[in-house]
Amino acid sequence: MEYKLQKPVHGTIGTSKYQCVIEWRNGQFIADEPVVQGGKDTGPDPYTLLLSSLASCTLVTLRMYIDRKGWDIPEIKVNTNMWQSKEGDNTITIIDRDIIFPAGLEPEKKNRLLEIASHCPVSKMLEGNIKVRSYVFHEEEVDRKLKYSNEDITVVWKPELCKHSGRCVMQLPKVFNLKTKPWVTMSGADTEAIKAQVEKCPTGALSWVYNKPESPEEPAIDSEF
Ligand code: SF4
Repeated sequence: MEYKLQKPVHGTIGTSKYQCVIEWRNGQFIADEPVVQGGKDTGPDPYTLLLSSLASCTLVTLRMYIDRKGWDIPEIKVNTNMWQSKEGDNTITIIDRDIIFPAGLEPEKKNRLLEIASHCPVSKMLEGNIKVRSYVFHEEEVDRKLKYSNEDITVVWKPELCKHSGRCVMQLPKVFNLKTKPWVTMSGADTEAIKAQVEKCPTGALSWVYNKPESPEEPAIDSEF
């Protein structure tokens, strides 16, 4: 299982209500809350960001399909909005998506494009099974560090910080496997793949360092793990 994004979306908030700096692969932008919610409205609010994701995914998916078909449709527009209602303890969210095609487009093409839109990746995700998992990311030092090396790098594991979320085990099972001893097999993947996986550890339990050529190699394993 691989993450969709090579680089996670990174957000930071300070004390200025409620400006968040959101960093993405190629830059950053501000997210905020509207004035009515106590923010300054200097950027999109979280609901707007969610609906923007659906709008852009719809448009990109339709454009790819239209281009593949060679249809002459110079512009498509989308409006997205949502409303919520309560059913007992449950909150029901309905998202409405209106797709605006140029006047005169044949009904068969409109119907086909409506169907294609319903299969865009973000639509499928929103209508599928979503779970949000949260972890505390530690930056403090802990005493116990277990080390695993190949010829390039040493992976350091701090068991006290490991929440056993299984992220590493699921995503790089040839290296991280709780059924083997040691549980980290450095020969299971190349150095770049191991580095990339280590950097995805949500809690800071895993980190890596380059081996120093001048120093004698440290023992690969210093515990029963
Ligand atoms: S990803 Fe990090 S926290 Fe999760 S099991 Fe692996 S080492 Fe532990």
